[in-house]
Amino acid sequence: HITLPTKVKQIISKLEKADFEAYAVGGCVRDSILGRSPEDWDITTSAKPEEVKRLFSATIDTGLQHGTVTVVIEKEGFEVTTFRLDGDYTDGRHPDRVAFTSSLTEDLRRRDFTINAMAYSEKRGLIDEFDGERDLEDGIIRAVGDACERFSEDALRMLRAIRFAGQLNFKIADETFDAIKEFSPNIAKVSVERIAKELEKLLLSGNPEYIALVYETGIFSVIAPEVAMLFENGEISASIKALSKASFPEKKELYQIRLAIFLEGLGADKAANLLKRLKLDNDTINTVKKLLGLSLREVENNETDMRRTVKEAGHKMMPLLLEMRRAKGLKDNKDLYQTVIDNGYCTSISELNINGKDLMDAGIPKGALIGSTLERLLELVIEKPELNTRESLLLEVRRNEE
Ligand code: ATP
Ligand code: MG
Repeated sequence: HITLPTKVKQIISKLEKADFEAYAVGGCVRDSILGRSPEDWDITTSAKPEEVKRLFSATIDTGLQHGTVTVVIEKEGFEVTTFRLDGDYTDGRHPDRVAFTSSLTEDLRRRDFTINAMAYSEKRGLIDEFDGERDLEDGIIRAVGDACERFSEDALRMLRAIRFAGQLNFKIADETFDAIKEFSPNIAKVSVERIAKELEKLLLSGNPEYIALVYETGIFSVIAPEVAMLFENGEISASIKALSKASFPEKKELYQIRLAIFLEGLGADKAANLLKRLKLDNDTINTVKKLLGLSLREVENNETDMRRTVKEAGHKMMPLLLEMRRAKGLKDNKDLYQTVIDNGYCTSISELNINGKDLMDAGIPKGALIGSTLERLLELVIEKPELNTRESLLLEVRRNEE
């Protein structure tokens, strides 16, 4: 029940014709069996990188030291990796050396979870030496071999386990879960960038509430003690429930909304500091910080309140703020916001029908007074939108001068 894309078939059969073994492997096999469409197709082969390069006309040296060559067919790239054994992991992050092997079984054994350790080719069918297919059916994330050993080799796998559980709505096998609890302190060996990437995939998954497992396993105590505190104080359960309710067309914004919901208990400043430590991009840090500032505002009762909220938030932030509220079960006032848009109400200084130069022409001296006058006029227009005409605003300026 696995249908390989034509180009993958081409690569595999070319390798086989040259007397090598070759298979689709890992995530693509897992996703095909699940009926999900794989993001990319990885190929594992007994051919050495030099042999792969010799067989295909267009290749890229992606990671020769790890045995990976990208084969390019009509602008589409496929990673072809030589059967590999990982050496010892003395740093808990990377194998000290990798060695090539002629055994597919050994290559599969180094992989993280049973569901990720299956290979497939048309010639040999499904190769499933660790009962990955059964775990797929049962919905279980289970380490290949001894879980403690596997997590002590590479601590990132602990977060990968939780992330896959969230993406696939699977349960983590008891012995695998216990091993994560035991080895959670090792997460400190993993770079913040890799940690952040896994947390992002988890928060964007269909089951973002699985982020609670990052606390339950002890991982948050290591990477973000302030978040662990939120769990300990029981302050976070409403946020966790709201996570999956948030939706948004673009991934980046959805991630920002879910981060804001998740970190609300920290407040804007602490949340921003955490996101800086995790080295997230500035746009995400600033957006989450702003959303958390805004989420303290009371929900609007009328159009004037809404104009004031838009003034604070800006139009770019409004859909995120409203979605955050909706997910939390608060009144989102999307209709009220729509009236601000439909009427083209002024909510910023740049939308006033008067500018700094007009004020100077009207006799206001250059300097701070210009800015504060514009602020005052904006406040007035927020209360009374009909006053946003050049004449009314100039009249107001002159009246104030007297
Ligand atoms: P996705 O790409 O959808 O996130 P994937 O399973 O394809 O999932 P990748 O990170 O692309 O994950 O890795 C491809 C394969 O390489 C995995 O399926 C697994 O077999 C193996 N693998 C990846 N990372 C590790 C790791 N840290 N330890 C052991 N095996 C790994
Ligand atoms: Mg992949």
